Amino acid sequence: MLDLSPDREVKQWLTAFDDAITRADFDAVAQLFLPQAFWRDLAALTWNIVTVEGRNAIRDLAETCIPRTAPRSWRVVGAAQSREDAVQAIVTFETEAARCHAVIRLKNGRCWTLMTAAAELKGFEESCGVRRPRGAPDRYHRGRKSWARQRAQDVWELGITHQPYCLIVGAGHCGLALAARLKQLGVPTLMIDKRERPSDGWRDRHDNLSLHSPSWFDHMPYLPYPENWPLHPSKDQFANWLDAYATVMELDIWPKSECLNADFDLAADEWRVQVLRDGKATELRPKQLVFATGLVGKPTIPDLPGKHIFRGEQRHASSPPRDGSYAGCDCVVIGAGTTAHDISAELWEAGARVTMIQRSPTIVVRHEQVLAGIAALYGDEARAAGMTTETADLLFASLPHRVEVEMHQRLTAQIKDQDAPFYEKLRNAGFLLTFGEDGAGILPQILRNPSGYYMDVGASELIIDGRIKVKAGVGVKRLTERTVILTDDTELAADVVVYATGFEIAPAPRMLSGTMATKVGRLWGLGSGLRNDPGPWEGELRNICKPTAQRGLWFHSNGVAGSRFYSRILALQIKARQVGLPTPVYPVSEPAAGYIQHG
Ligand SMILES: Cc1cc2nc3c(=O)[nH]c(=O)nc-3n(C[C@H](O)[C@H](O)[C@H](O)COP(=O)(O)OP(=O)(O)OC[C@H]3O[C@@H](n4cnc5c(N)ncnc54)[C@H](O)[C@@H]3O)c2cc1C
Repeated sequence: MLDLSPDREVKQWLTAFDDAITRADFDAVAQLFLPQAFWRDLAALTWNIVTVEGRNAIRDLAETCIPRTAPRSWRVVGAAQSREDAVQAIVTFETEAARCHAVIRLKNGRCWTLMTAAAELKGFEESCGVRRPRGAPDRYHRGRKSWARQRAQDVWELGITHQPYCLIVGAGHCGLALAARLKQLGVPTLMIDKRERPSDGWRDRHDNLSLHSPSWFDHMPYLPYPENWPLHPSKDQFANWLDAYATVMELDIWPKSECLNADFDLAADEWRVQVLRDGKATELRPKQLVFATGLVGKPTIPDLPGKHIFRGEQRHASSPPRDGSYAGCDCVVIGAGTTAHDISAELWEAGARVTMIQRSPTIVVRHEQVLAGIAALYGDEARAAGMTTETADLLFASLPHRVEVEMHQRLTAQIKDQDAPFYEKLRNAGFLLTFGEDGAGILPQILRNPSGYYMDVGASELIIDGRIKVKAGVGVKRLTERTVILTDDTELAADVVVYATGFEIAPAPRMLSGTMATKVGRLWGLGSGLRNDPGPWEGELRNICKPTAQRGLWFHSNGVAGSRFYSRILALQIKARQVGLPTPVYPVSEPAAGYIQHG
């Protein structure tokens, strides 16, 4: 550590950084970083979501992006803080186009991590706070429409008499959060959703599902949950919230409207989106198209021999349970991830005898440990001490994913020690455990390959007590009329078989042509080189909330909290294009890779 107060250390670094930027001395910029430093930029300088690692890459980003964005006016917000071996500060700054935030971490006077993020576009600020609409008229005039009549007319016209600038396919929480952001930015936006009530996507999930993420982490943009909201709202409470959110935020949705396919018309520089609206074919022509269709596609159901002769109930976990009692039934749940645990517990509560079939090990972390990890930033006590969701989001986003993975490896090792008796009991019950291929636990697993984990909210206890039985390390060989035969030839009596075997990943590209889907490539994943997340290392989620290889095409997908934060970054990128700001994307892939230049 330098012999300076954290505040002075940060101010000294910022002065040197600003000076090097002003002199356009990019070697000097790079020298202000540690050799193994990270710069994560969220649409502030790069018009992209990108993390660069190491001095050479940082120099390249600085040399390319600083001249065209002119970052300046760096000011520390509040007091800098010492955190472990680093000094951390939140900073504001501006570029030609935007007001921005940064989070800086210094070690021994040099920068270890820098995160820069766009917050608002100059001249195109959100109509919030001091810019809120007046509502009541300035003065009366003849023929003035009431709010309700005007709203009804606007709803009717959008997509019919005039085209939306932005079309969002999918009105789950990601679509809603983005549409709410775009609304405040004055971007004409329409959402379409194939369901009659988009929130039914949650209602249709298994009966006893409550959100596993805590509500103080999960506020949606502009409209936080009330103080009496449960820590883990049930899926139906959350679905009701989504309906209310869409109404209160005045979002424009066409329900019962399925996107069949989408093509980009190069000559008109807009999309041709074929939609089946309430059974009638129609075409929408937005400039920007966002798929917020979720990461989960069709349920995956293994094609087991004997499936057709089995005489009991068979269903995928996403299908509703039958009417009537499960009391006394023998139920076999195939799978051992989150849904398998939830469904097994649900069936046990209904009086069934349940056996879970676990083919491969599962990451299990006690729910209290996960809560503790995020409560320090977002929890009720943090808020009572003055932390805001906005600041917490900045700090949360400020760690580059590589550092985050290393941090989770350390945390997971601690959790393994602290909860050793719990894990021992689970193993004794026959359950196979892993802590991730690289020992990093749940969060990195979600970013790489969102499956194979369970945040324990109670089902582990049922397994430990033997109330839910586990057959581990085996698969299912075949079904008979009334039994399930496993690969070790164990035969289990079964009145009910539930396939908690997951879903196809990332269905959105199916609505694009094959050539375009290939050009765009994979969605989600960091390129870790681990199972289902092939390299090369990307450092950011592939194609999520950032420019894709196709002009005007975007994907938004995340948990509720991630969607709150990244919907702003995506909305600003779309707004910038609507108003014609130059948006040169860094880094630009070679044209040979099929990249269409944005901006
Ligand atoms: C069982 C379960 C529990 C989860 N619990 C949590 C949790 O506690 N906290 C958390 O943060 N995350 C949780 N997640 C993860 C994630 O947040 C959810 O999957 C969430 O629903 C994703 O939101 P979304 O808006 O991206 O997609 P979705 O909610 O899936 O919404 C996508 C919408 O797109 C529509 N759509 C799809 N295709 C088309 C088309 N061709 N045309 C028109 N509309 C279309 C669908 O009808 C749907 O309404 C959970 C996931 C699952 C499966």
